This record gives sequence, C-alpha cells and structure tokens, in this order.
Amino acid sequence: MKVETPAAPEGERNREVKQPTFPFLDLKAQFSSIRDEVMAAVVRVMESQHFILGGEVLTCEKELAHYIGSKYAISCASGSDALLLSLMALDVGQGAEVITTPFTFVATVAAIVRLGARPVFVDIDADSFNIEAGQIERAISPKTRAIIPVHLFGLSAEMQPIMNIAAARSIPVVEDAAQAIGARYSERPVGTMGAFGCFSFFPSKNLGGAGDGGLVTTHDPVLADRLKVLRTHGSRTKYTYEVLGVNSRLDALQAAILRVKLPHLDIWNRCRRLNAAQYCALFAERGLNEKVRVPVVPPDRFHVYNQFVIRVEQRDQLKHHLQQSGIPTEIYYPSPLHTQPAFAHLGYKKGDLPESEAASQQVLALPIFPELTAAQQRRVVAAIADFYGV
Ligand SMILES: *Cc1c(COP(=O)(O)O)cnc(C)c1O
Repeated sequence: MKVETPAAPEGERNREVKQPTFPFLDLKAQFSSIRDEVMAAVVRVMESQHFILGGEVLTCEKELAHYIGSKYAISCASGSDALLLSLMALDVGQGAEVITTPFTFVATVAAIVRLGARPVFVDIDADSFNIEAGQIERAISPKTRAIIPVHLFGLSAEMQPIMNIAAARSIPVVEDAAQAIGARYSERPVGTMGAFGCFSFFPSKNLGGAGDGGLVTTHDPVLADRLKVLRTHGSRTKYTYEVLGVNSRLDALQAAILRVKLPHLDIWNRCRRLNAAQYCALFAERGLNEKVRVPVVPPDRFHVYNQFVIRVEQRDQLKHHLQQSGIPTEIYYPSPLHTQPAFAHLGYKKGDLPESEAASQQVLALPIFPELTAAQQRRVVAAIADFYGV
C-alpha cells in the first residue's frame, strides 16, 4: 500500500518558516524588571545553605495563604504533585471515580489515573471552556470520591452550582487553579472554595518560579496536616512512616524567588486584563467580531488571563498565516484527553465529548503576557484582519 505523505503547507515549501518577531511569552522582560530583588533572594538562600523546607519555605507558604485567602497553604514540587497529593489526602485510589473535564492539561487527569482511580469526564461549556456544571449530577455514582473543576486559562469554573451538587452528596471538590492564581468567582478567590485548591508555579503560569513548584490550599487543619505528612515521605517524625507518602517539596530557592514575585502579581494580572480588553477593542474596531470569538466572561468572574484564547473557524490556516507573519500563537489544547493514547483504556471514543472536541479544533491562544506592548497587539490583530481580508 502506498502511503501518502501529506503535502507541506504552501509557505513551508516555498519559504523558510519565519521566526516570530517577538516571543509568545517574554519571561526575560519580567526578569529584567525585578532582577536585583531576585538575585538578592538567590544569594540569601545560597548563603544560608538551607535548601529543604525551613524558614524561607514556611514564610513563602504564609504569604501565599494570605494572598489567596486560605487558612493553610502547603507547598510541593509542582502543580501536578499538588493534584496528586490532594487526591491522596482524600484517599482516592483503586475503585474510585473522579469527575473532571477532558479539556485541560494532562496533569489533572494523570493524577487520578496514577492513583488507580477512574476519571469520569464531563463535557465543557462552549463559552467558558470550563466543565459544564449542569452535567455533573448525572456523572455522579456511588463510587465518586472527588470532583475536579479546572479554572481554565485563568477563568473560574461555575463554582456555586458545583459546590451545591458536591455538598448535597458530601463529595469533596479539588479546584485545579494552576492557571488561575488571583482569579475570583463572585469575589471568592479560586482555591478557597473547594476542600483543596491546587496551584502551579511552572514558569509560564501567572506566578512562575525558576523551575517547577506547586501549592495546595485548604481551610481544614486535618487535611493540611495530612498533606504535610504526605509530601515528606509520609513522615512526621524522622524515620517514622505513618502512611505511604512521596518526596514533593518546594525548594527554598524557589520559595525565595516566589516571595520576590508575589507582591507584583496583582499588577501583572492587571496588565494581562488590560491587554485582553485591548485585544477585544481592536477586534471590534477592525470589524472582526463575526470571525473571532473572544473570551466570554460572566459578570461574576474576575479573569486573570493566563491565556487569551480565541475561537475561530479555519484555525490551523490562521495559525499558519500568523506564523508566516512572525506572530507567535499556541494551541491549548489540540486534542482533549479522552482521545489520548495514555487514556485509551478508559474506553472513551471520539464523539463522546463533542464540545471539548470542537473546542480543540477551534482554539488559538494569542500572546497576553503583562509586558506585551500596544504595538505588538496591533500587529497581532492586523495579521488576523489580513487573514480574513478585512
Ligand atoms: C500547569 C498545570 C498543571 C500542572 O502544573 P505543573 O506545575 O506544570 O506540574 C495542572 N493543571 C493545569 C490546568 C495546568 O495548567
């Protein structure tokens, strides 16, 4: 049988693939604005030679708890581990089911599967890209041990109905707030509504470290204590192991750097929101409202735009056109998790979660980082207008 090699897109055959004229996320711009403070913090930790837990980490946790508005904040090695540790603390394991969305980063679902539990997928709302709260009830079974709404792209999920359903059945809610630090739902900060809130300090998140890092928030002292034991090998006192734990801690170096960045977070989030408003104004000005669906933000939500994701027809062609124009874009996420090989054993098939599948074909993330300039935004919008011939 002859296997056809798909033809390369026009631009790739005839021209060199263009390098973007500016980065999708400019972390160097952020670093240059806080360079001295960061370097001083790094030197402080190096001179202390205290790298595991200790004062720097404890203070960082206190400052984060205060910022987020939770009673306790327990740091760990990554956002992925924050999810894993939360589910471990809730005794999620073999035979359990956990309700979540397939339109998320892999870590949300991997935490469930790694513990031997089964993810039960509920489709998303087409406007918010978040789990459709109205469909959760019928996904609940006697085996349901947790619900994980994801505050995708920096927009809180519809928490009130989710909390109502969960409370009626005594099912704990674990908020995946990895992309949403600083976001609010009806004035309530994300990470303060469920039993646990999970945060990530991956460099591309709104509060990013110099490497991996994560955080779990909770109001419950028993759960907080369990989390602390689980992240240190299941041990409270040295060489006594109460439960099977893991090694997942936030490095003191990361804690020190995050402490420098945290006081800037509200300003950075404000810049992201201004950039988002500016995109919307530019699209409207260009008459692109029919072609480009901008994020829909319900009035009770404070969006922090970890990503600015538009919905378009002919997404791949538009992405290619923008690339040729030197405009960087990304696709979050190109295929929903129920269609991924790693989760094939769950038995889902294409067509089972149509809104997630449709979204994965139409979403396109535009640069939105705080230091993005008005001129760069105008270039992005001009290139999109050029594609649509307006
Ligand atoms: C980034 C992210 C995670 C995982 O965080 P890491 O720190 O990269 O492990 C989990 N869930 C979502 C939705 C994320 O975006």
